[in-house]
Amino acid sequence: MTASRYALIGHPVAHSLSPRIHAAFARQAGIDMRYDAIDAEDFDAALAAFDGAGANVTLPHKQRAAAACSTLGDRARRAGVVNTLVRGDGGWHGDNTDGLGLVRDLTGRQRLDLRKRRTLLLGAGGGARGVAPALLDAGIGDLFVVNRTPERADALADALGEPMRVHPRYLDDLKGLGEFDLIVNATSATRNGSFPGLPMSLAGPRTAAVDLSYGEAAVGFLAWARAAGARDMVDGLGMLVEQAAESFALWHGVRPDTDAIHAELRAREDALVSAD
Ligand code: NDP
Repeated sequence: MTASRYALIGHPVAHSLSPRIHAAFARQAGIDMRYDAIDAEDFDAALAAFDGAGANVTLPHKQRAAAACSTLGDRARRAGVVNTLVRGDGGWHGDNTDGLGLVRDLTGRQRLDLRKRRTLLLGAGGGARGVAPALLDAGIGDLFVVNRTPERADALADALGEPMRVHPRYLDDLKGLGEFDLIVNATSATRNGSFPGLPMSLAGPRTAAVDLSYGEAAVGFLAWARAAGARDMVDGLGMLVEQAAESFALWHGVRPDTDAIHAELRAREDALVSAD
């Protein structure tokens, strides 16, 4: 085992900002560590070959990572997905920092009060599973889960175990669901170049629209939200930095300050999007 070695395992990972974020955290904390992006279609093989002390896991492997762990933290168990691995004596311990990362960004940096917000979660993959429990814990009101594959929305709603508060719905139901105070896009639809037409009736002057993606991938959904009259438009860059800080704290016992790296990446993303 190489104690100073960490990595992100996913497919694809070439453009991930995580190595840059963790390098900044390590400099700040005075910790000597290496953090690589490992592009792997076969998660189990990549993990077996990895000799480091900890790893982040990204799409499409978060559910697979949960299955590979010998122990799971509370957040990972509720979510059924793992984004942070910590090597222990008896194997990997899995945790999930996505939800806390999102809530920290929304309530801290964006100063949004999430309590009682009627919420629509689009998607039921690894990201959606990671953030749903944290949104419920943050005090949102009813949570409607809508996914292209309806069985996955049903499975997520069942796993959350709050049938009075969590309601799976079909994509076709969207036009009849009325207005939401919070809409979270946790799909990779715009990454794939297609986004299902969302009714304008979902958003209004109280709505905060949040895309877990950032940069070019978030442009379509956030433009829709603006056109639909939403009040706040937030992309996933802040969440990315905050979930990374929580992972760093699990590995090193110190939570880095996130403002400087967030500002640096925000300036870079703004420049890239406006250059397109
Ligand atoms: P997954 O592959 O686990 O899930 C993808 C989700 O997107 C599924 O719900 C899938 O539906 C849906 N989807 C994909 N293509 C389409 C389409 N054309 N139309 C409608 N729905 C579609 O990915 P993740 O959940 O891990 O990631 C989702 C997004 O969130 C990514 O862009 C990722 O980068 C971002 N993310 C950002 C984080 C951050 O820190 N900022 C953290 C986690 C995720 P179906 O089930 O039907 O296939």
